[in-house]
Amino acid sequence: MKPKIWLSSPHMSGHEQSYIKDAFDSNWVAPLGPNVTGFEDDIQGYLGVDSHVAVLSSGTAAIHLALVLLNVSQGDEVICQSKTFSASANPIVYLGATPVFVDSESETWNMCPIQLEIAIKDRITKGVKPKAIIAVHLYGMPYNVSRVKELSARYGIPVIEDSAEALGSEFEGQKCGAFGDYSILSFNGNKIITTSGGGALVSRSEKNKNKAVFLATQARDDTPYYQHSNIGYNYRMSNILAGIGRGQMTVLDDHVIKRRKNYKIYETAFNDINSIKFLQEPEGYFSNRWLTCILLDSIKTREHLRTALEKENIESRPLWKPMHQQPIFKSAPRYVNGISDDLFDRGLCLPSGSNLTEEQIKRVITTVKQFFN
Ligand SMILES: *Cc1c(COP(=O)(O)O)cnc(C)c1O
Repeated sequence: MKPKIWLSSPHMSGHEQSYIKDAFDSNWVAPLGPNVTGFEDDIQGYLGVDSHVAVLSSGTAAIHLALVLLNVSQGDEVICQSKTFSASANPIVYLGATPVFVDSESETWNMCPIQLEIAIKDRITKGVKPKAIIAVHLYGMPYNVSRVKELSARYGIPVIEDSAEALGSEFEGQKCGAFGDYSILSFNGNKIITTSGGGALVSRSEKNKNKAVFLATQARDDTPYYQHSNIGYNYRMSNILAGIGRGQMTVLDDHVIKRRKNYKIYETAFNDINSIKFLQEPEGYFSNRWLTCILLDSIKTREHLRTALEKENIESRPLWKPMHQQPIFKSAPRYVNGISDDLFDRGLCLPSGSNLTEEQIKRVITTVKQFFN
């Protein structure tokens, strides 16, 4: 059996262990300390002004806290992009609220602004104005930030920007993670940078960041004894993992360059295969190309190609199965146009790690080309 080629695997810079060693040497082995503060400063510096970062145990925790901070509770509705990973939607249910799923547009594969407005109007007509909109930059491609922002402003509904897959991406020259009323990042093992597991909530004010940290550390009142006037969570990132994050921040730009290069290599190599299509960057969009995705001509071709790659010990994966197709969400309201269903049928993610070797990429390309011959 040939060695396994993964879709996206952790890629260390070599700087991580010195930060971890500092944590041990100073005995900051806790969910606070200099690495936590340092990692937050690094991300803030990267995202730019008006980004106040709280690092947390996961991206899912960050979405949960964003919803809590927007006062989402029992009986509320929250609009969520249907084409996404379940972690975007699950925290809505943690709070006893109902997700309302909105389909994609073909230009970005992300939330369709037309369907979004239809959904908002219809929910308002039905008597429940949605409490928030969760929009996702899938596979690193930004959603249409200006249109979503415009609708958010027109109807007075805040946006949670799910930037878990899009650290390093940009919309009209500004970094993803800087657009939502709240934004979230993920540092899971397969993301563009990783702390082995972790995430961040990005707020637009220091005040909201402090509220997030308060909730993430068990919501203790300012008293000498343990007193609680709010329900708290244990969601803070540890100082050890934040050390990994600081090391990873030193190579974030390199990772983006490498992943974009992977995309280019695939695009060039498959140029002459008519039944493979790529998602182009629209004008003003810059994708980190977290995963290179291809569209085949049918579900049958997609599945046969996936199996052919698997036989060569190469991991590939269909695009995210839309939330409105998930058994757990079968009764959730949805506003669909068929686009995310079609993408799920015909799309495939190819190995895209920033640590892929030239030889590994060649093996993937050869396998795909042989399949089409
Ligand atoms: C990874 C991911 C998350 C969740 O992040 P975790 O850190 O794994 O909890 C949320 N949304 C999207 C789109 C993701 O890809």
